[in-house]
Amino acid sequence: MNSLHLKSFTRCKRKAWLDFKGKKSYEVWSPHKAIDKINQFQIFSEFCNSEIYTGLKACENGYQGVIGLKIKGSLFQNINAEIRPQLLVKTKGKSKWGQYKYLPAVYKLGHKTTKEHLFDLAFSSILLESFQESKIEKGLVISSFDKKVNVEEIYLNKKLRKKVLNVLLSVNECLEGFMPEITQDRKKCTICSWQKFCDKEAKENGYLTDIDGIGSKTASLLITNGISDTQTLASYSEKQLGKKLSKFNDQKYEKASVFVKQAQAYISGEPYRISNKNDTKDLIEKTCSGFYIFDIESNPDDKHDFLYGFLKINNLFTKKEDLIYKPILNLKNNKGESYRRIIEILFSQKEWPVLHYGETEKIAIINIAKNLNFSFEEIDLIASRFIDLHILIRKSWILPLKNYSLKTVSNWLGFEWMQKNVSGSKALYWWIQYQNTENEIFLKKIIQYNKDDCLATLQIAEYLIKNQLKKN
Ligand code: SF4
Repeated sequence: MNSLHLKSFTRCKRKAWLDFKGKKSYEVWSPHKAIDKINQFQIFSEFCNSEIYTGLKACENGYQGVIGLKIKGSLFQNINAEIRPQLLVKTKGKSKWGQYKYLPAVYKLGHKTTKEHLFDLAFSSILLESFQESKIEKGLVISSFDKKVNVEEIYLNKKLRKKVLNVLLSVNECLEGFMPEITQDRKKCTICSWQKFCDKEAKENGYLTDIDGIGSKTASLLITNGISDTQTLASYSEKQLGKKLSKFNDQKYEKASVFVKQAQAYISGEPYRISNKNDTKDLIEKTCSGFYIFDIESNPDDKHDFLYGFLKINNLFTKKEDLIYKPILNLKNNKGESYRRIIEILFSQKEWPVLHYGETEKIAIINIAKNLNFSFEEIDLIASRFIDLHILIRKSWILPLKNYSLKTVSNWLGFEWMQKNVSGSKALYWWIQYQNTENEIFLKKIIQYNKDDCLATLQIAEYLIKNQLKKN
């Protein structure tokens, strides 16, 4: 058992087990992990004034920061354990190496210090104390806000140490036992490297949390009412279900109807059309003389949109290869220029609507317009041109899918990204790589990815339009 198992266990027991015993070929490389590692190294390096070295030799030499050290030891009841402290920071004291000792430190993304950080520090301190022959009173949580390194001291008192030892016992028990169940809180799965593996099992077993809109609480409520899988839900009477969903108040019958239909679609693989003629008719009228598709790539932690992509569509019959795509790179030191180019594109076809998927794009443009001191009327006018296809598809269709993300919906419509296994996080990973290396290849990959996002959005627009036309 090691620090990584403990970290995984605090998120999802099954993840800890899979990390330990799962078949590695089922695990998918996670850009989140890689991004985390890069950010972590940058902040640690800044905190230690670049005096950061690897391994045992670095401790012996008394360097300010030490990474990549693995320390083995045994816990009570002869449990073998290994710590992999994210960072060791030199401080005053006395250890087997001389007149100094080390404290464990962890990296924190965001504002909240969680159990995960506290347990990691406490676990590290237990084995590190005997290894360096020196007591450890505190650990550090290092983060960065507004480009400033922030350090929080955590006192590793008896209570915390006792708690982590209990958790480590449970981790050990879990690793030795059978594979735990899929977590109830499936939101955790979105950034997990075992997601594909678990999704397959969830679908085969008819997990209720596979149904869009059903989270862990609603799933428990349904289970207590005898609806334990998607099959039972799909054949349930909407009216009867509505009576059981009183927690949704006035919306209970509406919710019940959507859940049952969503389960039916999921099982049958057939989409279900919700009557919503007005909105799709509106889409047809607005797009008939041309439109833009707009998609952004961003770094949410940094609140920075690094690429804006526009696809120009004069009409739906134009071949995909002939469409004009314009990527606009948003370098932090040259924001003005990217904003100017965006506004130029938007104003070159003043009447054209701008189709996008999700709320981010419209918010970004409103912020840009505010930044450029546009009047309220001008901002309203620009904002009114934006059409969110994510809202529109949800209002008009129940699709046989687990969620309505751009990837899931457009994949179902047959769209394929040119590059395999891509995602917004992977694009962010490439962006970080580009900033560090200035290698144009990363930029090319991001631009290709964004162009495909635009084309995927176009495929959804075509689906909405063509199906509306068919009906008429
Ligand atoms: S995909 Fe979800 S259930 Fe599976 S290991 Fe990851 S977090 Fe746990």
